[in-house]
Amino acid sequence: MALRIENNYPLKAHNSFGLDVLADRFVEYSTEDELREALNLASGWDGPLLHIGAGCNLLFCGDYHGTVLHSANRSFEVLEKAGDTVLVRAGSGLDWDSFVLQCLENGFFGLENLSGIPGETGSSAVQNIGAYGVEVCERIERVEVLDVESGQKRVFAADECAYGYRDSIFKRPDHKHFIVLAVCYRLSTVFEPVLTYAPLSRMSPDGLTAMDIRAEVLSLRSSKLPDPAVLGNAGSFFMNPVVPLSKARALAAEYPDIPQYPATDGFVKLSAAWMIDRCGWKGRTMGQAGVYERQPLVLVNLGGATGEEVLSLAHAVIDSVYDKFGVYLRPEVNAIHS
Ligand SMILES: Cc1cc2nc3c(=O)[nH]c(=O)nc-3n(C[C@H](O)[C@H](O)[C@H](O)COP(=O)(O)OP(=O)(O)OC[C@H]3O[C@@H](n4cnc5c(N)ncnc54)[C@H](O)[C@@H]3O)c2cc1C
Repeated sequence: MALRIENNYPLKAHNSFGLDVLADRFVEYSTEDELREALNLASGWDGPLLHIGAGCNLLFCGDYHGTVLHSANRSFEVLEKAGDTVLVRAGSGLDWDSFVLQCLENGFFGLENLSGIPGETGSSAVQNIGAYGVEVCERIERVEVLDVESGQKRVFAADECAYGYRDSIFKRPDHKHFIVLAVCYRLSTVFEPVLTYAPLSRMSPDGLTAMDIRAEVLSLRSSKLPDPAVLGNAGSFFMNPVVPLSKARALAAEYPDIPQYPATDGFVKLSAAWMIDRCGWKGRTMGQAGVYERQPLVLVNLGGATGEEVLSLAHAVIDSVYDKFGVYLRPEVNAIHS
């Protein structure tokens, strides 16, 4: 396939907020050689580079005056089978949920709890996606990247990726020059259900299949989250904050029903949704941006919103949570300015 190059390209179909913005240039490649060719061309063009996946975690704050890169590498390969495990390599442009389904259909287990997360496999390794008791870093063995600065290919073992809650080394400003080419996942050929997360813990393990978990997860997700095709959004806009134990204790004394979850030693995770709700934001709107009435972690485009409107709403939510609880909410969504 040849490199696809578009000028003044509408990104509406490439961001789940459905924001009507343009990129000066949009370049889609399928192979590593095509990516190198694209980078070569881009070195002669004005403006920065941004690599996107399906745009499900991006907030474009205006038109993008630079080059947007996208991978159309949707390869799926079984690299090795060893004992009860299998190593599967996915091209970075493969749709995440199609990949999960393909794995399950082949009898490769471990990703079923992550069914239905929008996006692509390349971004799964950047974002460290997680849901229903599983984080993808637990299944990643290695990530293959191209270093834009040196032009060299490099392989990061999972323990070199600095994985944390929705975090990885690839999100750090000094590591933004790595483009994920492919991700290798170590999966199991023996199904072992993960039912630790509350809504799934009701399921009986007897006779349970991975497809049952997938069906339950998909049903739970559609009951809680708005479909971006209907109401533009990027999933949870904010991360759950992690605070020192002393702060958590002070909050519990003032708000006895505040939900608190264990985190690393000496820290406690709080529910951003609960705090936003307590500040009275559920269902409120600012311009064409709103706080989703069924899940206050989600900001939505009510139709024709601009990125700046969504960002102003996000700042207003952050300020009011800070004023009431003294806790700073960090956005999970990547705001893009150029
Ligand atoms: C309705 C909804 C529900 C969601 N639920 C969840 C959930 O349950 N759990 C969860 O973790 N997330 C969830 N999300 C967030 C989102 O699905 C994930 O963050 C996902 O990984 C984004 O994938 P993407 O391909 O759209 O990435 P994008 O949003 O396009 O990009 C995300 C980041 O990855 C970078 N990137 C993308 N591709 C590459 C590449 N090949 N090389 C280098 N960098 C790259 C981008 O520059 C950007 O920084 C949800 C989103 C929506 C809309």
